[in-house]
This record gives sequence, structure tokens and C-alpha cells, in this order.
Amino acid sequence: VSGPRRAAVLSIGSELLLGDLTDTNATWISDRLRSRGVAVVHHLAVRDDVEEIVDALRWLAERSELVVVGGGLGPTSDDLTRDAIAAALGVELVFHEDLEEAIVARFAAMSRPMAPRNRRQAFAPEGAVTCPPVGTAPAFAVDLPASHGPVRVVALPGVPWELHRFWDAFVDPQLDELGVVGTTVTRVVHIGGRGESDIAGVVEPLVDDLPEVTLAFLAKQYGVQVRLSASGIDRADAMRRSQPAVDAVVAALGPAVSGLDGDDLEVTVVRLLAARGERVATGESATAGSIAARLGRVPGASEVLVGGLVAYRTEAKTSLAGIDADLVARHGAVSAATSEALARAARERSGADWGIGVTGVAGPGTVDGLPVGTAFWALAHPDGTCEVHERVLPGDRPAIVLRLGSAALDLLRRRLSGDAG
Ligand code: ATP
Ligand code: MG
Repeated sequence: VSGPRRAAVLSIGSELLLGDLTDTNATWISDRLRSRGVAVVHHLAVRDDVEEIVDALRWLAERSELVVVGGGLGPTSDDLTRDAIAAALGVELVFHEDLEEAIVARFAAMSRPMAPRNRRQAFAPEGAVTCPPVGTAPAFAVDLPASHGPVRVVALPGVPWELHRFWDAFVDPQLDELGVVGTTVTRVVHIGGRGESDIAGVVEPLVDDLPEVTLAFLAKQYGVQVRLSASGIDRADAMRRSQPAVDAVVAALGPAVSGLDGDDLEVTVVRLLAARGERVATGESATAGSIAARLGRVPGASEVLVGGLVAYRTEAKTSLAGIDADLVARHGAVSAATSEALARAARERSGADWGIGVTGVAGPGTVDGLPVGTAFWALAHPDGTCEVHERVLPGDRPAIVLRLGSAALDLLRRRLSGDAG
């Protein structure tokens, strides 16, 4: 692997510094560069200000071999990326007739006349390599001298879909030209129901024996991702090099593994149900239908998700789910007994093989003296039995709803994959 090893991302736009906009471009660009084996060593965001952009460019150029600039290529007076890059190089902006024609054509394709101000976008710093627009803004690249040699600076529009298109059409070919060979893949093992340090204790010794693989942990709202990265001459090679680590982690963590790569918990549950030809229904209080909704996002859900009862207020547990009002009154709306009754009602009323039932206190207030985070999740099995689990879950209201749903889905996943635990 040769070519630039260290890259930086410079995001331009005052909105980014006012708290109005999250810099998702920097994250996306980093992922793409990492997949080419180029390390991103800095993210920097600056306001729409020529001096600040020039300062940032110089600072980053001293510390990297490639700078990807996103944003500030629009037609308005606060779009200053062209001016700033020209200033950093000490050159003028020059007009590109072919770019103007391409911009006019883009507008024509949208049945709109080109506003005079869009002519600004046909200018680029002298010496730049340009790329015609995919939206209305062209992209360009220059080499900026730094004390360690020339640094390639690639300027892309900030609109995410445009930036993504330019990546394939304009940036990737430059990486090839600069001598970047190879690809890094990151494999993801999703783990449910075990803590990060507990998982690290199992996984770190395994990966220590595999020097080709880099290990990282990412704690999610529910569960942990074990991320295993390996480089190779191409994707297939990198996949081959990462496979022993993936296999070792899956073998060591067994039933705690809830999915691989793009297969998260919901995808895994849908796949396992489909493989068995079985179906599930939900009876949801605290999660208000979100467990069913999470399954419904997965392609193929219609094969395995029968439906769900959203029995939110106490009276709905009787009016919608048909649960004996005395049972709810005796045990409480948030209780093991009510969760079990919801799971059974969901299963029996829908004819599903499995029924999920949940109750809990999502907060911010307590319910019947139970603390915020109190959660009961039940699973009605195809054989007519039902199991109930309980825990006080951490976090605020959205986190508790998410965790409770994940706990219930993970319980179903474990039972479907033969973990009797
Ligand atoms: P264009 O030339 O296509 O008009 P631009 O280069 O002028 O784009 P901006 O005006 O800076 O880009 O941003 C346009 C829109 O793109 C923003 O309103 C925002 O929605 C989105 N955007 C810009 N920068 C980012 C970023 N770093 N992360 C996520 N979204 C962004
Ligand atoms: Mg802008």
C-alpha cells in the first residue's frame, strides 16, 4: 500500500458551527477513505470566511497528504471555497466555459433557467482539475504545496448526495492515480446482552494472535459492536484476511452474537423466523408499537410479523388485548403478570407462533411507585409456555424504550437460535 497514508477532512459552512447541522459528510468521507486504507487524522469545520478557510487548509496540509474539502461551492456570496483555495495557492480564479455549459445543461434538465449568480460556479482556481456538476456545483482538485511536498486538495459540494456521486466519479480515480492501492474492510459482529468490558475480556486475547486485524468496540444503545478491520489488495483479499477473526469472535461469544455486518438484531430475528417458517406478534405497552415497527423495517417482514397490539393505557389492556381487568389491577399495569398476559394475548389473538409482551416505566415520572427504567419483557412460545424477564434499564425515555424493545427482540432471537439460556 502506497500513496497518501494520512488524510484530513475540511467541512465548510457556518451552519456546522452554529449547531444547526451535523457534519455527516466528514463521517461518510472518513468511512470511504478508511475503506481505501487511508487514515483520516483530522476533521475540521470552519465558518464561511476566506481567512479562516485558508488558515485551516494550511494547517491541515502540514499534517496530511490529502485534504477533502466539503461545502461552500454553491452560487451564493457565502460560498467561498473557490476563493479560499485560490488564495491559499496564490492564484486567480479562472473561468471554465465547459463548466458553464454543463451547469446550463443541468438547469435545462430541471426545466429551470440558470440564474446569473450560478455563473460563479464555473470558476475554479488556476491550474485546477475540474469535474462537471452532478447537481449544479462542479468539483475540482489542486495540489497545494506544503513543507513535506504537494498535498492534493479535492473540493466537493456539501450537499450529501452530490458529494457521494463525486466520490465515485472524481475522488476514487484520483486515489488510484496517487497510488493508493488496497482496501480495508471492517467486519461488524453485533453482540446483545453482554457488557463491553466483559466482551473485551473474551475478544482481545483472540485478536492479539491475529496481527493483521485491528479491533475496536462500539457501545450502542443496546448491545455492543465488535469491529474487526483488515487490509488487502482488494475487497475479497481483505475479507479473507478478516475472516479468521470473525470466526474466532463468533465462536467465542456464541449465542450472544446477534448478527454480522449489516445484519442487526431486527434483520437476524426476521431471518431466523423465516428460516423456521414461524411468525411473531407483539403486545406492547411501554414501547407503543415500536417493536413491531422495528421488525417492519426489515425487507421480508410481511412473512414473519403478523401484527401487534398497542395497549398503552391501562384500559386498552382490557379493551384491545382482552386481558382481565382484575389481573391488571391486582398485579399492576407495569408487572411481570401484565407483560405475560400481553405476550399471550398477542400470540393467541393473532395466531402467531410467538408472542412478545412488554410493560415498563419509560419516565420521566414513576408509575405505581416503580422507578424509571423498570421493565418486564415476556415471550410466549409456540408450545404455550411463557417466560418473563425483568430489569431496571438505564437511560432517558427514548433509550429505555429502545432498550426494552431490544431486550425483547434479543430474547426471541436467542430462543430461535436454539439458546435455551
Ligand atoms: P451546492 O454547491 O451543491 O449548492 P455547497 O457546496 O454550497 O453546495 P453548502 O451550501 O455548504 O454546499 O451546503 C448545502 C447543503 O448541504 C446544506 O444546507 C446541508 O444540508 C448540506 N451539507 C453541507 N455540508 C454538510 C456536511 N458537512 N454534512 C452534512 N450535510 C451538509
Ligand atoms: Mg454553505
